[in-house]
Amino acid sequence: MTKAKVGDSVEIITDSKDFKGILMPDSPNNNFIIKLSSGYNVGIDKKRVKKIKLIKKGFLETKKLKKIGGNKDLPTISILHTGGTIASKVDYDTGGVISRFSPEELIDMFPELKNLANIESRLVGNMFSEDIRFPHYNILAKAVEAEVRNGVDGVIITHGTDTMHYSSAALSFALGNLGVPVILVGAQRSSDRGSSDARLNLVCATQFIINSNFAGVGICMHENSDDNKCVILPGLKTKKLHSSRRCAFKSINVSPWASVDEKGKIEIFDNSFSKRDAGKLDLKLFKENLKIGILKTHPNMIPEEIANYLNFDGLIIEGTGLGHAPVNDIDSFTSKHKRIFNEIKRLSKRTPIIMCSQTGFGRVNLNVYSTGRKLKEFVISGEDMTSETAFIKLAWLLSQNEKYIAERMVENLRGEISSRSSDEFI
Ligand code: GLU
Repeated sequence: MTKAKVGDSVEIITDSKDFKGILMPDSPNNNFIIKLSSGYNVGIDKKRVKKIKLIKKGFLETKKLKKIGGNKDLPTISILHTGGTIASKVDYDTGGVISRFSPEELIDMFPELKNLANIESRLVGNMFSEDIRFPHYNILAKAVEAEVRNGVDGVIITHGTDTMHYSSAALSFALGNLGVPVILVGAQRSSDRGSSDARLNLVCATQFIINSNFAGVGICMHENSDDNKCVILPGLKTKKLHSSRRCAFKSINVSPWASVDEKGKIEIFDNSFSKRDAGKLDLKLFKENLKIGILKTHPNMIPEEIANYLNFDGLIIEGTGLGHAPVNDIDSFTSKHKRIFNEIKRLSKRTPIIMCSQTGFGRVNLNVYSTGRKLKEFVISGEDMTSETAFIKLAWLLSQNEKYIAERMVENLRGEISSRSSDEFI
């Protein structure tokens, strides 16, 4: 119907009314969404749409190679907005956190950012992060690539916190040879609240970009419940471990890379991150229609839970402990376990199965118990990756048509697998 892409300015003509705004990713029920100049989003039933006129290409199409930013003495940071609580405010009609700040409003709320850097601000999406799908990773990765090509010194991505660690993993794989910092920042409390963590998280991310030689994908969120410092966490080894606290994110099986305060004081805990360089970014995107599941094993499991995945492209099992599933038929109550085992065997002939641990911390080891030894012929060890990172890695490898999935999954490609396990990090 139209050549317009997400991010373009469009006019949507319907049977009753016309809407002008920026085309956003479609809603889950397949409506067009456009962002109006008021900052609000409106959903438009596709059946009502007569025509979509492209008014102006969005920033994703930009090919400009010029260095941006007004003050030559300051670095230039691009802030890409994707939505989430950080971009939200309380809707005082409903009491819910829904209505969104525009990128400009959000930056204007924290004027000190402009004293630290030339801030470019772009809208990539305006959604809650639980709605993110693989095409959104591609949109985001391309948006980062465009900024890097434009010569920015760093990129900050404002993002919903719920799946921020999936997105950081997706970008870590998609953006190969990344020579600049890309820091994801969220907030657990909306930006219009006194207790919001948005300001500190944004300022600390900016300070870290300005005052370190870090390159790569990281997450910047509160270090603890005091409102005075943030940590920079590795994009591939981080999880959201609390539903509401501002210090909800922790690194898993490794130390955070650094802490940073709002004045720019940085303490490096682990210097193994990549450093800035001017190499050429190697963008490798996700196939958008892959079907990959994550299944948690549990007591009283039934074989159908495994059989559900027979037409999937891959499955991550979050096993118990060292990577276990209920596959031992030991008494009159466990006869189903033989079928569970057979279903795992059957599925493994069709699709890669990666075994991670639901403990979060620690490493899968399929050699210790007889259960693991039974399973190890049919599942691939997720080593010490979180199930979220293993999920994204599998999706990305399948997207590259990788032939040797089992070999690549256990190989450390981007810092997702630690060479040794240490229990000092829990
Ligand atoms: N669930 C929403 C999201 O992840 C809001 C939570 C947040 O941003 O902290 O986008």
